[in-house]
Amino acid sequence: MHKIVILGPPGSGKGTQAEFLSKALNIPTISTGAIFRDHMARKTDLGKEVDAVMRAGKLVDNEIVNKLVQERLAKDDLQVGYILDGYPRKVEQAQFLSEYRDVSYAIYINSRDTIVMKRLAARRHCDKCGAKFNFVTNPPKVESVCDECGGELVIRADSTAEVISERLASYHFFNDPVVKFYKRRGVLVEINGELSIDDVWQEIKNKLSL
Ligand SMILES: [Zn+2]
Repeated sequence: MHKIVILGPPGSGKGTQAEFLSKALNIPTISTGAIFRDHMARKTDLGKEVDAVMRAGKLVDNEIVNKLVQERLAKDDLQVGYILDGYPRKVEQAQFLSEYRDVSYAIYINSRDTIVMKRLAARRHCDKCGAKFNFVTNPPKVESVCDECGGELVIRADSTAEVISERLASYHFFNDPVVKFYKRRGVLVEINGELSIDDVWQEIKNKLSL
């Protein structure tokens, strides 16, 4: 049974790799974002709490995140294995998870900060239809014009250099201890995240012998 945690900086494409893994191994991906959205849509007590915290632009407490993930991991469809994306985000969460579930692999899609910054700063989306592009990894056919509808490509408000470097600093502060935690446990699989999407996937398959 594959019990996988996927780690990596913003813009590393770990969501895409998690989907590849999910299809290849036929096991579900659990993302905290999806769990939050589900609770908010159903307007549960926890959903309302998460909604208020996120509206205030704050990080959801360990206690709430742990509870929500634990509840989701107790469901039947996860008896075959799972991929966790976006959790554990902090070492306290990794410790909590280790108390009731094993992790067979912590896949760490690593990338230098300079590369991450370049990729994030190159993100654009269409003003009209919302289609996503990236001048580095997924460029449009014509500069600044949407392939889908011809609309104008604009930068996201959260993609400015200042916001990106804040995000990266926060990522290192919380994520680096999580990486160390899994390294000590001997389950860390480090992947070169600076390669193309296909080459990253190839490296994951090789290292996991898939
Ligand atoms: Zn468009």
